[in-house]
Amino acid sequence: MNIYAPRTTEMHFVLSRVLNAPTQLQSLPAFAEVDAELMQQVLEEAGKFVGEVIAPLNRDGDEIGAQWKDGAVTMPPGFKAAYQAFWQAGWPALASSPEDGGQGLPAVLEVMLYEMLSAANHGWTMAPGILHGAYECVKHHGSEELKALYLHKLATGEWLSTMCLTEPHAGSDLGLARTKAVPMPDGRYAVSGTKIFISSGDHDLTDNIVHLVLARLPDAPPGPKGLSLFLVPKFYPDGSRSRVHCDRIEEKMGLHGSPTCVMRFDEAVSHIVGEPGKGLNAMFIMMNAARLHVALQGIGLLDAAWQKADAYAQERRQMRAPGRGKSSAEADLIAEHPAMRRILDTQRAWIDAGRVLAYRTAIELDHIKYSPNAGSQADAQRWCALVTPVMKSIFTHQAFHGGSDCLQVFGGHGYVREWGVEQIVRDARVAMIYEGTNEIQAIDLLVRKVLPDGGTGLNALLDSLPTDTPAAQQRQQRLRAVTQDIAKATLRDAALPYRVADDYLRAVGLVLMDWAWLRIQASLTDEMTDCTTRWRAPAAALQHWILPEFDMRCAIMDAQCQAA
Ligand SMILES: Cc1cc2nc3c(=O)[nH]c(=O)nc-3n(C[C@H](O)[C@H](O)[C@H](O)COP(=O)(O)OP(=O)(O)OC[C@H]3O[C@@H](n4cnc5c(N)ncnc54)[C@H](O)[C@@H]3O)c2cc1C
Repeated sequence: MNIYAPRTTEMHFVLSRVLNAPTQLQSLPAFAEVDAELMQQVLEEAGKFVGEVIAPLNRDGDEIGAQWKDGAVTMPPGFKAAYQAFWQAGWPALASSPEDGGQGLPAVLEVMLYEMLSAANHGWTMAPGILHGAYECVKHHGSEELKALYLHKLATGEWLSTMCLTEPHAGSDLGLARTKAVPMPDGRYAVSGTKIFISSGDHDLTDNIVHLVLARLPDAPPGPKGLSLFLVPKFYPDGSRSRVHCDRIEEKMGLHGSPTCVMRFDEAVSHIVGEPGKGLNAMFIMMNAARLHVALQGIGLLDAAWQKADAYAQERRQMRAPGRGKSSAEADLIAEHPAMRRILDTQRAWIDAGRVLAYRTAIELDHIKYSPNAGSQADAQRWCALVTPVMKSIFTHQAFHGGSDCLQVFGGHGYVREWGVEQIVRDARVAMIYEGTNEIQAIDLLVRKVLPDGGTGLNALLDSLPTDTPAAQQRQQRLRAVTQDIAKATLRDAALPYRVADDYLRAVGLVLMDWAWLRIQASLTDEMTDCTTRWRAPAAALQHWILPEFDMRCAIMDAQCQAA
């Protein structure tokens, strides 16, 4: 069984050559001192830590899994020691502010770290996966008292956090949440209710766990506007235990290294975070950060599956591939068979474009935070709002479906456990569901973000993506036209945008993939000796096997608009 190995040179190529990130980030006063060399050093060290400490725990995480007994969760062997090493080395604090105990480095380095972590060990990575979002949430919405108590611990990762939204009857529709918060005379609140599917609701990785919980005040209106956000720790600062209980963990298809907990809040004494009735608003920072992280899970898991499949295909021999001479020593390798080559090159095209888009999104996040220029802040806001749901959806979809294609490269050897690729397929499936299902992402893009301004924001995003080829220009034109057609057809059939939202999201995603690959190709130089096999083959796969989906999606949307 081969273990995932971070390929930091390729990641750094995307960061520095394709996106020119060091120069771009240095233009922000906050990162004036962060040069290409420093970024490369951090990346190399992160790759070493992930490869040596986190990746080897993946199999035990799956086979032994997290265990629940008498209300407490024990994590799989090695997980706790690895987490302690992780936070003590400062990894969770990479992008946190120095005044809170962080390192103040660009968000893109954190994003690259989490891509590697997810690829190496999705289950383990779930625990710190939402930590930075929780830190940002408390930093922006917490009272001074809360910040004094919790911010440093969250910034450094000494304590981990949860996001408690889902209830048995309230999944995609959080407005149905019933967990209640009753004001106490001292200004705190007693929170009661049951939350389900809570990742890392209990564990033994850290001494304390900080729960961020959506709940409803007694006089709150029904629906999402009646939700407020509360913070309740497992242990209060005086060491006493809160009335938060982990009643069980779920048996599930994959992701066994991450405990998915049923959490009972039994008049748990809590602090409000932000204003009453603005809970979803306060949670928004955390949810958006989590969506980007889930997109990275997709990219990382697909890379892990591809690495395994590629290595296997370079060893396994079956029949001579068509078009290869008898004398060629490689003619019978699985990797030489056109059907298998197609699978491998196609996944590579998704992974490489995924990196360009995810790293660019992280750079835009820093522009939102640190740019002194209001115009570039607004452009960055637009990029993140429109591109984040697209990435969450297309890369989680590809991790599962492309991961399954990678399993196919092994034949029967992929279906049995030996090579570990079946674990990736099982683990990856959930990423299409949590953090807002992929259907909800599509509705978020088309119905909440594109149609309300008549497509103006989307058109501005497209204007910002230079198109170097006539085919790319035509696709962009077609996307603009189909946006207008949907807007008009929606006046006749209000359900239409909900029916075609997924087609629309895929079409936007394919235009973004095309842009990402145009940027990669423009960055290749003749000295890159492995250009042909490493970069040109996936570039061709994009044209042959991926982009044709764009016309199919548009044809579906055209037919729906005409029928409306
Ligand atoms: C392993 C795991 C970890 C999780 N971790 C957390 C966590 O840490 N914190 C937390 O709060 N939650 C967590 N969740 C919950 C997760 O976010 C929810 O499962 C998800 O939001 C979907 O809710 P649901 O399962 O109730 O499905 P439902 O909302 O009942 O949806 C069922 C189906 O209907 C579709 N659907 C629903 N509404 C619409 C609509 N308006 N338009 C179109 N289609 C729709 C959905 O896309 C889905 O396909 C986790 C779940 C899992 C499985």
